[in-house]
Amino acid sequence: MSHTKTSEAKRRSRRKFLKGVGAAVGSTLVARRKAEALSFSMSELFQQHFKKFTKEDLERVLARLEDEYKKKFGREVEVTAEPHIPNSLFAYALDLSRCIGCRRCVYGCVEENNQSREPQIQWIKVLRMEKEKGINVEEAELYYNPDLVPEEGYFYMPVQCHQCRNAPCTKVCPVQATWMEPDGIVVVDYNWCIGCRYCMAACPYGARHFNWAEPKIPEEELNPKTHYLGNRPRYVGVVEKCTFCIQRSRNGRYPACVEVCPVGARKFGDLNDPDSEIRYTIENKRVFIFKEELNTQPKFFYYFGI
Ligand code: SF4
Ligand code: SF4
Repeated sequence: MSHTKTSEAKRRSRRKFLKGVGAAVGSTLVARRKAEALSFSMSELFQQHFKKFTKEDLERVLARLEDEYKKKFGREVEVTAEPHIPNSLFAYALDLSRCIGCRRCVYGCVEENNQSREPQIQWIKVLRMEKEKGINVEEAELYYNPDLVPEEGYFYMPVQCHQCRNAPCTKVCPVQATWMEPDGIVVVDYNWCIGCRYCMAACPYGARHFNWAEPKIPEEELNPKTHYLGNRPRYVGVVEKCTFCIQRSRNGRYPACVEVCPVGARKFGDLNDPDSEIRYTIENKRVFIFKEELNTQPKFFYYFGI
């Protein structure tokens, strides 16, 4: 079968799936189409899956997106698609004894990753728990709001995508719109996602977020440096999540939440680099895995350093 015929067959099977999955998906797509009205171009509608792009496809799609965002935000937006750094495998560790629950990581992440301000989307949640009860998710508070943190008798546990090696979210996606990259980052192709939300139901960390309405970001607050698989502006009706700031980490930078944390509670780096801070942390601290019994094999670790 020729390449063109294969592509056409794949598009047909995705369309067949779209027809068959029922009202929930249908209504999501209808909402998205309505919201975007006539701006939904034919080239976008028939766009191939990211993993199948040729070099020419990629250049064309990135240019189209830059143009789309310029019209929408009235600003130049750069959309890149840097590939992974060979032999890199990113991981994260969080020192619960240092975290003071200030939530600067939450807001730093929102700004860096162009999350919707209205309705509000936040990829990082910070849970407040009672020291006496230890890690007790059932009784944790997400909407704590004290004037001063840290508070006597409490500790704080930030939760975000755990970038699992054995990721339940990627297995359930019926159209392969989400997958793990070679550097261990689980990504979503927002142009391929059909909004069925199976991945949200499968994620045990509540790390995926659905855009029920058109995401809104004030023009002046838009971060114009974006990656196709990361922080580029999203659409209504698609799912999004933390990508270890793919637009930064693939350029040798720390994720925004690491940089903004005032107490150094967050450690990040390349697991394959024996001299990295993340390797030191994992080899020298008593790290633990949240919901280890599920065998999701996260690349996100917690520890009590003090
Ligand atoms: S909502 Fe999740 S499972 Fe459904 S298509 Fe999008 S990424 Fe895949
Ligand atoms: S910025 Fe650092 S100290 Fe503040 S809540 Fe996030 S991890 Fe904790």
